[in-house]
Formats: sequence, C-alpha cells, structure tokens
Amino acid sequence: MTARTVIHQKNDPKCPPNMDDYGAVRARFTWEGARRTLDGLAGGGLNIAYEAVDRHVRHGKGDKTAIRWLAKSGEVTDISYAELKTRTARFAAALESLGVKKGDRVFALLGRVPELYITALGTLKRGAVFSPLFSAFGPEPVKARMGIGEGQVLVTTAQYYRKKVAPIRADLPKLTHVLIVGDGDLPEGTQSFDGLMKRARDDFETVTTQEEDPALLHFTSGTTGKPKGAIHVHQAVVAHHATAELALDLHESDILWCTADPGWVTGTSYGIIAPLTIGVTMIIDEAEFDAERWYKTLQDQKVTVWYSAPTAIRMLMKTGADLAKGYDLMSLRFLASVGEPLNAEAVLWSNDVFGKPFHDNWWQTETGAIMIANFAVGDVKPGSMGRPLPGVDAGIVDREADGSLKDVTETGAVGELALRPGWPSMFRGYLHEEERYKKCFVDGWYLTGDLAMRDADGYFWFVGRADDMIKSSGHLIGPFEVESALVEHPAVAEAAVIGIPDERAGEVVKAYVTLHHGYEASDELERDIMAHARRALGSAVAPRLITFAADLPKTRSGKIMRRLLKARELGLPEGDTSTLETFS
Ligand code: ATP
Ligand code: MG
Repeated sequence: MTARTVIHQKNDPKCPPNMDDYGAVRARFTWEGARRTLDGLAGGGLNIAYEAVDRHVRHGKGDKTAIRWLAKSGEVTDISYAELKTRTARFAAALESLGVKKGDRVFALLGRVPELYITALGTLKRGAVFSPLFSAFGPEPVKARMGIGEGQVLVTTAQYYRKKVAPIRADLPKLTHVLIVGDGDLPEGTQSFDGLMKRARDDFETVTTQEEDPALLHFTSGTTGKPKGAIHVHQAVVAHHATAELALDLHESDILWCTADPGWVTGTSYGIIAPLTIGVTMIIDEAEFDAERWYKTLQDQKVTVWYSAPTAIRMLMKTGADLAKGYDLMSLRFLASVGEPLNAEAVLWSNDVFGKPFHDNWWQTETGAIMIANFAVGDVKPGSMGRPLPGVDAGIVDREADGSLKDVTETGAVGELALRPGWPSMFRGYLHEEERYKKCFVDGWYLTGDLAMRDADGYFWFVGRADDMIKSSGHLIGPFEVESALVEHPAVAEAAVIGIPDERAGEVVKAYVTLHHGYEASDELERDIMAHARRALGSAVAPRLITFAADLPKTRSGKIMRRLLKARELGLPEGDTSTLETFS
C-alpha cells in the first residue's frame, strides 16, 4: 500500500448522493430496514421480478422506459415498465403452459437482446430458477453448465442451437423444451419463442415465492479453475436494491449503462435486477466493445451512471484521451468498476479525462451483490476497493496451523478477505458441491479466497487471489501491486504477473506486458520498464523477467487468467479453459 493521491469528492447539490454520510448510514443500516423499502408479496413472500417490474406499474410508473435497447443495426427500441410487465407475465404463463414448475431451471443462451431480459424476469415470475449462459460459449461449456444445472428449458437462437446445442443435446436428458428466438426455420426438436408468447395469457400473477426460494444459478468466471454453480435466492433482491442505491448511487432519474453481459453475475445483478428495482432507464447495447461506439452511446443516450470493468477501461485508455475528449460526456455523474483490481492509474486517468474517478468496487459471484466500494460520498482512494457497504462486515483473517482463524487487526497487514455471513444475496450453495460450500465458512466467517489489507481509514486494498500470490525470498508478493506499477510506465497497456520456480528465491516474479499503440518491444524498452519497476517497487518485488505479449489470456468476462500463463510457462496441464477468450 503506497501513500498515493486521494480524490476528495465534491457532491453535486442538484443530485445529492443517496448516502450523505458513510459512518452515519452504516451505523443505522439494517437489512430488515432495507427489506421494508421493497413491497414484498402478500403473505410475506418476496419475488425479484415483482420488485423489479410489477411494483413500478402498481405505483403508477408503467409508462416510464425501463429498457432502451440499442441493436447492433443501429435500431433503437424502448420498452416501458408496463410493457415489460406484460411480456414477462406472458413468458411466465408460457412456462406454466409447458409444465415448468417452481424451482425448475430455465437457461438462456442469447446475446443482449430483449428476449434475454424477458426470459430472466419471466422465469422469476414463474418461480423457476434462471441461469444465464454467456452467448460465446461453445458446445462443451454449454453442456457442462446445463448438465450441472439440469436445465429443463433453454431459450436460444436457431443459429446458436445448431452450432452449440444440437451436437450435445443427446447428453442433456433433462432438457425438454428449446425455445427459439427470431424468425426463420425452426430446427427439429425446438419451438418458437414468439409463437409461444402469442398464445400465452398476459395476466399471469407472479408466483408467491418466499425469501429463501432459489431464484438464480450463476456460474463463476472460471479464473482459478472449473466454474462453480452458485445458487441465489429471492431475498437477494434486498441486497441488489440497497447496494444499487448506496454503492452505485442510483437515483430513479438516472440513465444507467452497465456494460457487463448478463452471462455473468454483474450483468444480471446490475444489468437487469438492481437498476430496475430502483426504476431507472437502462441502456442495453447489443454490440461488442468498440471505443467510438461506447463514447457515442454515453453521449447520445446521456448516460448518467456507468458501471464497467477494468479491462474495458484499460482498452479505452489504450485508445487515448483525445478520442474521449471528442465527445460530450457531461451527463456522466457516477462511474464504477468491478471484476478485477482497478489500477490507480486508471482511476486517475478517468478523473482527468471524464472529470470523475471510476469508483472501484469488489464482490464475487458468491456474494451476489457489491460488498466493498468507493462511494459517491467521501474520498476515493485510487487503487483501493473502498470500504464495506452498510450491512456488510468485512475483515482480514489468517489461517492458523490448526485450521482456525485469527483476525488480522494490524493496519496494512495482508490476510484473507473475509465477510460475516448474513447479507441477503449471499449464495446458498454450490450446486452439487456441498462440501466445497461448507469449506468456505470457518469460525463465523465466509472466506473469499482473495488476499487484501486494510488501511487506517478502513479502506480495503486488494493484494491478489490466494492462488496467484508469489513467494520470493521470504516476501509474499501480490501480483496486483506489481502490475499496477508496470502499467504506470507510459509504454505499458496491461500487465500480468506470475511466480516461476527459482532454486534460490523459491519463486521469482515474471511479468507479461502488452504495449500501448506507438511502442515497439525492444531490449532497451525492457530495461527501461525493469528500471521503472525497481524504482517503484524495490528490487525484491520488481519482476526479474519481462516478456512482451501481443495479448493476455482472459476469461470471457475480462479477467486475466494468470494460472494459464503459469501453466504454459511451466508446461503443466491447462485445466478448465471453458471461459477462456480466444487466445493463442
Ligand atoms: P472462479 O471463482 O471460477 O475462479 P472468479 O473468482 O473470477 O472465478 P467471479 O465471481 O466472477 O469469478 O469473480 C470474483 C473475483 O474477481 C473476486 O474474488 C476477485 O478475485 C475478483 N474481483 C472482483 N472485483 C474486484 C476488485 N474490485 N478488485 C480486485 N479483484 C476483484
Ligand atoms: Mg472466485
């Protein structure tokens, strides 16, 4: 943890933050209180889709645009809350007509098209469990996840079905209904999504689910190994709603763009559920990342809250500040990032280019919602994940030799990041992996598998995943610190750091770096980066080896897969690569 710039935020009096004082809100916050801000269902029930959609119609806000969909083609479609209510009710009724019961699992393998959102919310209305599959998955990852999830229904397109599902359908005996979105010939053994919707009634009453009824099955990103299926319940909506208010500072008047795909937990929690519970208008862009398209979307749609990820931010940085400055981005009010550690460099860059810092926040598929965040109120510390949300108790712990845990209270000491169980969106199990689930809970803590430290102001600083830590000559080195120092060099765009075995030191640090446009790999540049790293980190922590790479291996959700670099470096088996983005 280095003493760095702190960004003192000034709040806009026209739109004061939802949380005026971190300490005061934290002191008075309770999850029961947060639950009471939602409507709930008669008889004490709670249903995510009801809170996200129906509630607003009931309160007379049906005409408001819930979703503004930007098709790849350029076509723009607005869907109001009232329309979303009707279409999700139809889908719930359609599922009922197919014999889908409470707790059955419905999968979607779709790009970011309106039917994906209707499937997600309609499934929840039916009381069934929604599980998204990232649309770029091939047949094997689809088979693995649908096999674990025992999906009865799959909503997809004819093209995806032929390519990714037909070859493995025989291996999915539980899959009884495949619904095809879009026009054209229906492959054998499937039926039309639209046809079914047309025949369905639109007065379906949302099923009275209870707080502990399963709602979502999310697979983790597979960064450290085989993806796990995390189960979430309807009560999660309490955390979605509260964290959207407190960590993303969402107001009903906001236009939110969450760039994450709903194939991953961020894209569902904050790209479907949370913003709708607040009643905002959400921008959904069908297209993939393109810096110019993104800036144009922020400008033309007058996006006020933008939730993105470090990889995307680094890609924008790569294209340079001048491109950003060519657009009118004055509507932007609050910027946030999740998924990977956000280098201090990126926060300072955004503060310079957009006049606002990205607010880094930390959470996992397992936590279901944001747990630690830089808020709209108070200071942003670039390079820090921020402070625990009200209602969230976070600590740093160490495992003793006997397996018990010890609290690490010393400021700046590294240990495992742990959370006190009990927040509403906590996962309720890893599907079919009961033992693994149980192992996450020790001495009244949930262990996250990430290492971190806490400073004197209570801000948490990410150090690295436990699996990625490097032990060199008695030092425990976190890759994030080294990578952050490397990207501060003007030539370095991205960096990934691993430990490789060394006879004398145990392990030495090896860095893979990609370069910004206009820089060429050379021995001289290598020496210069090395010298820069030594100055910033000292020779014990600075990389001993640097390799220039055209690209880094990443998960499809944009996380650097250090384990793969290591496996390739050491000639070891690569393990599960089902979420690996195309990389050679
Ligand atoms: P798997 O568990 O399958 O290996 P994964 O952990 O990458 O995959 P996710 O649940 O999508 O799957 O990601 C959560 C993890 O991402 C966190 O545990 C942490 O390691 C990392 N992460 C998320 N946000 C941040 C952040 N703001 N700073 C640092 N790390 C982050
Ligand atoms: Mg994980």
